[in-house]
Amino acid sequence: MAESPFKFCTNCGQDNWISKSDREFVCEACGFRHFITPIPAAVALILDAQDRVLVIRRAHEPGFGLLGLPGGVIEPEETGEMAAAREVQEEVGINLPASAFTYYLALNNRYPFQGYSWPTLDLCYMARVADFNHIVLQASEVSEFMVCPLDEVPLHEFAFDTNAEAIRHWRASRSAV
Ligand SMILES: [Zn+2]
Repeated sequence: MAESPFKFCTNCGQDNWISKSDREFVCEACGFRHFITPIPAAVALILDAQDRVLVIRRAHEPGFGLLGLPGGVIEPEETGEMAAAREVQEEVGINLPASAFTYYLALNNRYPFQGYSWPTLDLCYMARVADFNHIVLQASEVSEFMVCPLDEVPLHEFAFDTNAEAIRHWRASRSAV
């Protein structure tokens, strides 16, 4: 049986969850139903005029020391584009308006956090910049950045396959032209 990420019922405090599936748990004591639904996250695929990609090295778990794209969980009242713009500003100091980001594709991911592997829906957004000359890293989030030609991105070093998959999709669409 699937295990709830919550030890106790968030309504009555009892610890008798009945799992109906891997995404639905019912409290035996009070009937409170708890659903696990995907958490929307924004991922930013930022390219310069030469189709080089901004890749970051993660400075925290999960995936500490591995590579990825800037991004994070979408906050209340934000659109995906707003979240992409905010995360990019926070992580690498590039100031782009939300309108600079264009929706590209959505991919399912799992994000290990506090002992549970949470389902996320990674919404990938694309933005173009003239260059990457003014990057300011947020040290708590990112330990270094690299600017990689599309065909040379070390995808095997990525923390999350959704990030790598977005780049593979873009590569395939480019080579199909
Ligand atoms: Zn309960």
